[in-house]
Amino acid sequence: MVMTTLVAVFCGAIGLCVGSFVNVLIARVPQRESVIRPRSRCPKCGTQISDRDNIPILSWLLLRARCRSCGVRIPARYPLVEGATAVLFVAAAVRFGASWQLPAFCVFFAALLAISVIDLDHFIIPNRIVYPTLVLTIPMLAGAAAADGTWRRLEDALIGGAAGFGALLIIHLISPRGMGFGDVRLAGVIGVMVGWLGLWYLAVALFLAFLMASVIGVALIATRVKTRKDAVPFGPFMASGAVIAVLWGPVIVDAYSRSRG
Ligand SMILES: [Zn+2]
Repeated sequence: MVMTTLVAVFCGAIGLCVGSFVNVLIARVPQRESVIRPRSRCPKCGTQISDRDNIPILSWLLLRARCRSCGVRIPARYPLVEGATAVLFVAAAVRFGASWQLPAFCVFFAALLAISVIDLDHFIIPNRIVYPTLVLTIPMLAGAAAADGTWRRLEDALIGGAAGFGALLIIHLISPRGMGFGDVRLAGVIGVMVGWLGLWYLAVALFLAFLMASVIGVALIATRVKTRKDAVPFGPFMASGAVIAVLWGPVIVDAYSRSRG
């Protein structure tokens, strides 16, 4: 218990810093800019942001949401993304404890958040996030399999990746305008990560994604926020379904099997 609390606090702190980087990804990846250099600048006056003004959440509060030099408003999205990343990291720590899987799922969650916001903004799921996520997480999962002797899970991860990719590929081929190829690649990544926990979890994740997309899609049309012709990005729904399946999959599968007696 003490151990889990320590790991959760540590992951929360790391999550705040990674959240800052997620903001950088969201701002720069769609513009095809480097995510390493240069340092962040104010979009209005171009002043470089100093270290003391770059502390996650805290700087935004201390500066009262304004740039120190020109006073332009800094959107609340910045601290919200940092906070959300920290919450996801803490949730992963509580779910997995101090284990080899934990860093892999932290990377996965941070990538899902960046991809969701970019998809909402630009209707794209960038390869520059999808591929590095696989490059980072697959070796981590292989390490976890080696350390814990759970090679069976790595097999499920690879089958899951193929299943997620394949399922969405079929939908993409039937309706290329409704389901972009970025969604197909993302389903592959989700298939690997969620499949690692069990192929059941992947079924839950994809089912939730389609369920939420239809419920929210109908609600947006009913409230006239969108018309039938507007595109609604599917990435955020797949990402949410994956996070819910990873964190509460056992509860959901348990409730389902009990309801069937
Ligand atoms: Zn400024």
